[in-house]
Parts: sequence; structure tokens; C-alpha cells
Amino acid sequence: MKNLWNDEDAKSCDSELALRVYSSRLLGQEPELVMHGGGNTSVKIEEKNILGEMQHWLYVKGSGWDLATIEEGGFSPVELIHLQKLATLPSLSDPEMVNQLKTHMSIASAPTPSVEAILHAILPFKYVDHTHADALITVTNTPRGREFIQQIYGDEVVVIPYCMPGFDLARLCAIEFEKQANEKTIGMVLMNHGLFSFGPDAKSSYLRMIDLVNRAEEFIQSQGAWQLPVLPTMDRKLNRLELATFRKALSQHLQHAVILDSRSSDLGNYFARHPEVARLSQQGPLTPDHVIRTKRIPMLGRDICAYAKDYENYFQRESTKLADQKHMLDTLARVILDKELGSLYIGKSASEAQIVRDIYEHTMQVILRSEQLEKYQALSAEDIFAVEYWDLEQAKLNNKSTPPVFAGEVVLITGGASGIGQACVQQFLQAGAAVASLDIDPHIEEKSHPAYFGLHCDITQDAQLQAALDKVVERFGGLDMLVLNAGIFPAGHAIADLPLADWHRVLDINLNANLQIMQCCFPLLKNAANYGRMVIVGSKNVPAPGPGAAAYSASKAALNQLARIASMEWGAEGIRVNSIHPDAVFDTAIWTQEVLQARAAFYNMSVEEYKTKNILKVEISSIDIANLVKSMCSPLFHKITGAQLCVDGGNQRTL
Ligand code: ZN
Repeated sequence: MKNLWNDEDAKSCDSELALRVYSSRLLGQEPELVMHGGGNTSVKIEEKNILGEMQHWLYVKGSGWDLATIEEGGFSPVELIHLQKLATLPSLSDPEMVNQLKTHMSIASAPTPSVEAILHAILPFKYVDHTHADALITVTNTPRGREFIQQIYGDEVVVIPYCMPGFDLARLCAIEFEKQANEKTIGMVLMNHGLFSFGPDAKSSYLRMIDLVNRAEEFIQSQGAWQLPVLPTMDRKLNRLELATFRKALSQHLQHAVILDSRSSDLGNYFARHPEVARLSQQGPLTPDHVIRTKRIPMLGRDICAYAKDYENYFQRESTKLADQKHMLDTLARVILDKELGSLYIGKSASEAQIVRDIYEHTMQVILRSEQLEKYQALSAEDIFAVEYWDLEQAKLNNKSTPPVFAGEVVLITGGASGIGQACVQQFLQAGAAVASLDIDPHIEEKSHPAYFGLHCDITQDAQLQAALDKVVERFGGLDMLVLNAGIFPAGHAIADLPLADWHRVLDINLNANLQIMQCCFPLLKNAANYGRMVIVGSKNVPAPGPGAAAYSASKAALNQLARIASMEWGAEGIRVNSIHPDAVFDTAIWTQEVLQARAAFYNMSVEEYKTKNILKVEISSIDIANLVKSMCSPLFHKITGAQLCVDGGNQRTL
């Protein structure tokens, strides 16, 4: 574990809280310490209250914040002395604990303090850091874990047996710290959970965390358990239709479109084919808080109903042990281990699927190392269930706002690097879709993130197109919507002078490539999570062609005909096909100020008049087109197919 502390950077922090932000981010950027909102940190600060009296505050990470990106506003200031007094109560219910945290803050709008706030408060150090370090979990999640911890740290850490997070854990830590701490104590090990370090300043607390993690890593190395087995790279024959139909079945089971991420990893392929995959994978997650992302155990193979039945049994068995009534969560797996497909990850959105992937890729590594150390041993189903159905964990997921319109759905947009295509990419991302976009411009591959996948592709080249579609389906699981936008508008020629090569090139890109994309995507759209949709970006030239644009107009008119026929042929499969005809969209790369001025001068108009030469006298922008493309894919067009709409501000020739 690398020490990332930099004295120069630290010097620029002008307050105790700024230093807290600085070292929290150092922890947060290392996925082997914390992932996706895991871990928390705090600092105890003395400040005057509004009456001018000095008061002690615990600035602790607010829930919903991620250590990697936390800011000063992500820390909630809570009355320290009050928290310390709470820790002496014999018991405290979860709702009352949250109530106490929220009613003892100095800033009403601060986020809800971490459920581990009381634990931070009882540790008698200014700075406290808490991570779920992989190396530590590798050691604790073994039958001899307690003994290994003793070997690694001796009496330099306080050791806490597993206890569910919240008030009981804080109280147990208070008691054990009192008993076990000595002048050498620099940290605290929470079995099957994580690691605390602390110190009088941000640097010492951070360095102790790194030191404690390094000692665990060195121990694993000294036992010959660090090096993973050589992972064979396996060639997997990707079958797009097989994946899409599987995703459809998963979506139907959940009654919500899902992203199915089956990107191959050597670790996932190895683990899914491990002769003991059942024993290794069916015990439980590394730490209980992973359960809300990954479910307790992965699905082995592809029997969705059998997994659901097992989950129901687990729920029945465990819920009867609890006093209050629980409502069963959905029964769909989030991790799949399949002998042919390797490891697959499911989410109600691309970012959810990415979180599941990140967590489980770490999980497999830790399990294999624990096995090499001794044997992987997870917590009991009872302990995991308690966290899975813990109100405070559920609250993290229960976002009451309605999901975006395309949540879990996948759209493929051609020509997404600029102009209308780029505006469509933005619109679909905002509406919650996972967006794949093809473009001849290699810049399309920049700025990819979990929900956006840009692919450099010449759509007229079959091999490139097939490879791109494979990647899209591998990444997201299938296809729900197709937006055919890519096209070229070549320099004008009268028919008499039109070079044949130009004619063929325009037809190749604007028409023939689109036919091929349609042929490839039809089986995928047929197996969309809900129902398939296609939108064609046509042109005003379809209803109202102009002289000098023969190739362009003919190609768009033929494409329009293709779309009309597709609406008839594909309707029986529930696929809606609609067309949009833009006119005079000037906020694209080809319309530079010079070109605009030249065209306006040609018509004896000002640029402003030229841009708005339509019945409504309005300017049409890419975003107007993208908005309608999005609407055509939305429930608004649920019962409309074969429609053609002009977005041109009204034009006598297209009326
Ligand atoms: Zn924790």
C-alpha cells in the first residue's frame, strides 16, 4: 500500500477540516482501502458556538459522501460530548440514534452523520480514519483470523469481534478500547469488517493506516498467499443474441430493465470455472455492507427461478428470527458466475452494475488469497441478513424519487461525436439510459464512463461494425433503442456533374451502412428489456429536396422508405420506428461563422434572418432535435410508429 501523503499539498490546507478532507481523499482514491462510499473519517475540532462559548465538535463523514471526492461540506459537525455520553447508554434504537445525531449538529443542512459517528466520538484521538482494507479482510475472514491478527499486530491494536455496525458496535468498542488499549495502541481491528487508525494529527493517523495495511499485506506475502494463481486468458465466443435474451429474462424477472455487464476478466473467468466455485462463492460477502450491492451470494449458472427460490427460502428462514417484520427485497442476483460466460454483473443502471463489478472483482481476489492463507470463511447468513435488512442500510438505497425514464435501458447512437448525435448522447444520458455511440471520429472514445461507451467505428466496414456491436452488448447486455443519425452532406453537384464515386460514397454511409446496422440490431431490439425502438434522423430534403443535393436527398429518401417498411415489418415484434426530419440546424461543426455569413449573403439576409427563415421565425438547434428523438423513444410515443415529424419551425414546402 503506497503512502500518498505529500507535505507540500498538506501545507496548502489552511484548517484542521481542510486537512481532514485532504487525507480522506488519499484513502478514498485507493480501491484496496475503500470502495464506493465505504469507510469513514472524522476530526474533533474546538470551535466557538453562536454565544461565543468554546465547544467540542466531531466533524464526521456524512452519509452519501464518498471519501474519494469528499469536500468540507461532506462532514457533519456533531456535539462531541453528547455523542460520548450516548455511548454509555445500555442501548439505543437505530431511529433514536439517527435522531440524536441529527438534532445535535451545528449546521442544520449538513448531511446525516455516518452511523459510525458514536464510534468515532469515543476514540480519544483528534483524527480517526476507518477503511475496509482488502488485506485486513483477507486475514480476518479465515478460521484462524484472530490468531493471525495477533501475530501481525501484537498488542498495538485493539481487536473487536464481529458486531453489527451502529450503536452496539460503538458501545462494544468503547468497552474493549478501555480494556485493551495501551500506550502503544495505534489502531483497532474490527473482525470481518475493517480497520481503524487514529492519531493527534491527520498525517500520523493516515500513516498509521498505511502502516497497518502494509503489515497485513506483508504477512500474507510471508505466508506465500499473496501471489494469485496464474490466470489463463480465455477466448470467449461472444453470442450477442444469447446475452440479449438472457438480459431480457433477467429484466422481466425484476420487472425493471437491467444492465448486464459481461466484460471478460481473467479473474472472473478463472473464478467461475474454479472446481470449488460453489464452496468459495456461496458463503457470503467480504464485509456485510457489500450485501446491499451484490446480494449475499452470486448465482451459479443461469437458472433465475432457482436462485429466486433459494433467496425466498433464505428470507423466510432469517426473517423469522427477527422481532420486527421485514419486506422481502427483489430476488434477482447481482453477480452471476457461469462456466461459459465467466463473471457477469447486474444493475438497474450502468453505474450500479459498475459498482457490483468493482466490489466483486475485489471479492474474488480476497477469497482466493484467504484460501491460500488458510481457508475463506465469511460471516453467517444471519449476520449478513441483519445488515441486508437493516433499516439504516436500506435507507441508502431507498431513493424515493421516480427513476429516470430510460433507467436500465440501452441506446445505440451513430455519429455521436458532434452535432445532433452528440446532443442525443447528452439527452439519453440525462434520461438515465446507458449510451453507446459509434463515430468515425476517434475522439468519440474520450470521456467514457460507466453509462457512456464511445466506440471509434467506420460503419461502412463490416468487421468494425460487428466488433463494435459485440463490445456494446458485452458491456451493457443488449439493446433497447437505436438512433440512426450518422450521415454525410457532401459538396453540392448538379446531377449532370455528379461524380459517381461521390454518389456511391454517400449511399454507402447514409443508406447501405444503416441497412446493415438495422439487420444486425433487429434481433437485439426484438429482445429488448421492455420493447425495441428505432429513430431515424432523416432530413427536410426528404419531403422538400433541393437542387444540387441529389446524392444526399436520394440517400435520405431511401433511408426514410427503409424506416417506413421497418415500422410495418417490425411492429409485430413491438418495435416502434419513427423518423425525424430536421432543417437548418446551424450549431454543428460544418456551419462555421464564415459559411453562415456566406449563405446569408447569398439570400441577401442577415445571419439572424437566415437562421430563422421559417414560419415561426425560430432558430432550430441540435438540442431541439435530440429532445424529439428522446421523446420518440419515451412512453409519449408508446402507441406511435411509422411517424415522420419535421423539426423546422414550419416550412411551406414541408407542410
Ligand atoms: Zn465500516
